Amino acid sequence: MRRSLFAIAVVGALSLSLAPSSLSAQRALKVYISVDMEGISGLNGDNQTSGAGAEYGRARKLMVEDANAAIRGAFEGGATDVLVNDSHGSQRNLLPEDLDPRARMISHSFKRHGMMEGLDASFDAVIFVGYHAKADTPRGLFAHTGSGVVRDLQVNGKSVGEGGMNAILAQWYGVPVVMVTGDDVAVEQQKETVPGVRGVIVKRAINSRAVELRPLADTRREIQLAAKESVASAKRGTPTRAAQYIVRMEFKDPTIPEVATAFREVRLVTPYAVEFTRDSMPDAYRLIRVLYRFINTD
Ligand SMILES: [Zn+2]
Repeated sequence: MRRSLFAIAVVGALSLSLAPSSLSAQRALKVYISVDMEGISGLNGDNQTSGAGAEYGRARKLMVEDANAAIRGAFEGGATDVLVNDSHGSQRNLLPEDLDPRARMISHSFKRHGMMEGLDASFDAVIFVGYHAKADTPRGLFAHTGSGVVRDLQVNGKSVGEGGMNAILAQWYGVPVVMVTGDDVAVEQQKETVPGVRGVIVKRAINSRAVELRPLADTRREIQLAAKESVASAKRGTPTRAAQYIVRMEFKDPTIPEVATAFREVRLVTPYAVEFTRDSMPDAYRLIRVLYRFINTD
C-alpha cells in the first residue's frame, strides 16, 4: 500500500517535470501593440480624433479594426500573449467589447510611459498601429509630436516624433520594433530610428489635412499579414543604451519652457526651447511626457 502510493507519487512527479518540455513547441512569445489614431485606415478628418468630434464614434470603430487586424496577425505569427496600449489622446478610445478577446489592454492617459506604458524587457516584439508624422512635417496627416505644443523634439541630437522616441525606448529594453502602420510619411519617418521596420502604408498624405485612402479591406488584410510575418521572424536584440540621454524640446509657446524650468535640471536654451539630461531612456521619456502633456497653459 505504502509502496504503491510512493510509485504513484513518483509517476506524478515525472509527468509534472516532463510537462514543460512537451509544451516547448509553443514557446512564450509576448507582443506589445501601441495603437494611435491619426494613422488608422480610413481616418480622414479632425472631427474624428477627439471625444468632442462629431465623427469620433466612427473613428473608434476604424481604430479597433486596425488593432484587431494586428492582433490576429500577431497570434498567427506565434504570439502567446498580446498587450495592447491605447495610445491616442485620452487613451480611452478602444472599446474592450470590440477588441479581439484574446488581447489584454491598457487604457487611460494618466500614465508615466504614455504610448509605451507596460513595455518591459519581457516582450519579444513591438508593433505601432495608426502612427503619424512628427511635428512640423509639411506633408504628414495631422503631424505632431506628443501634443500640439511641441515644435521639435530631439534625443541625443536627433529629431524624432512619437514613433522615434517610442522606438528608442523599446531599444533600451532590447525589444525590436518590427512593424508600423500609418500614412506614407509616418512609415518613412519610422525608418530613421528603425531602418528595417516593416511598414504598412494605409493612406497617402497629400498635405497635413488631405489624404488618399486605400480600400479598408486591403489595408486590414495587409496589416494582418505583416503582423503575422514580422512577429514570426522577430528576434530579440541586446539592449541599445546610450551613456546618457540629452533631450531638447522646442515649443510653439514660450510659456511652457519658462514654467518647465521649475524642474531644476531643465535648462532654458532659447526662449522657446529647453534641454535636460537623464541617465536612462525610461527616465528621459517620463520627463518628456510631463513637459508636453502635463504643463497646461489654460
Ligand atoms: Zn500621436
